Amino acid sequence: MDLVDTVATLLRASPLPALEARILLGHALGWRRTELITRADVALDQQKVAAFRDLEARRVAGEPVAQLIGSREFFGLDFEVTRDVLIPRPETELLVETAVQALEGRAARPRVLDLGTGTGAIAVSIAWSRPDARVWAVDRSAEALAVAARNATRLLEPKRPGGELQFAQSDWYAALDAALVFDVIVSNPPYIASGDPHLSQGDLRFEPRGALTDEADGLSAIRAIVAGAPSRLLQNGVLWMEHGYDQAEAVRSILAAHGFADVSSACDLAGIERISGGRWPG
Ligand code: GLN
Repeated sequence: MDLVDTVATLLRASPLPALEARILLGHALGWRRTELITRADVALDQQKVAAFRDLEARRVAGEPVAQLIGSREFFGLDFEVTRDVLIPRPETELLVETAVQALEGRAARPRVLDLGTGTGAIAVSIAWSRPDARVWAVDRSAEALAVAARNATRLLEPKRPGGELQFAQSDWYAALDAALVFDVIVSNPPYIASGDPHLSQGDLRFEPRGALTDEADGLSAIRAIVAGAPSRLLQNGVLWMEHGYDQAEAVRSILAAHGFADVSSACDLAGIERISGGRWPG
């Protein structure tokens, strides 16, 4: 045991991967990454050290880093994360990029719907990229909507004066005004099958189960979203959904069976078909 705790001694002694230890220590101290380097040998306040040891122990026990520090970066934006929401994943940025691209061909002030918004990462990132877009974000969890609304306010206020997102507590389309139709619908729905062993591994153990699995074959949320989309899309509007690494073909068949055109999938940075979508010919 070192006589004086410093950044250098704490990082050296940590059982965690170096990057995780640095993130948690920076959070406990309220220091930036550069300060961890330039002030590595400064004697630390014992209360701060105790706070770090607590975070470190919880991480060793499996709690996700994003929940321990209360945030996760997505699309260059810093999203608040709680235990009530799925932690944003880097591969989901592909869904945002694809939606933003689809909006390029649409008229001004296009309408976008994000189903199962969670943190609001997808809806807020689209709104951030397209300040003129009118974005609706729904979730059936009131706790998730509260997190999403805080993220929208904090991240978008400077960018979209008066251009707030619309939030609704809704089971997919159920609570949306019947007259509302959209240019683009996106979703990262629960797509893990109920028996999948991943649900009891890693970060997933600490995330809301309802955001991860449909408690069925992994495709039931996707079927519901596709089935409801035709009456919610403008002519030539598009629907894009994220799905599991082995679900692309099944999702394309569901889209085709419901009359979607230009059905295709796109690969994430790992080369895995991660999202699929299509155009509603009207
Ligand atoms: N991408 C998440 C995972 O595999 C699952 C998220 C979801 O079901 N939408 O860890």
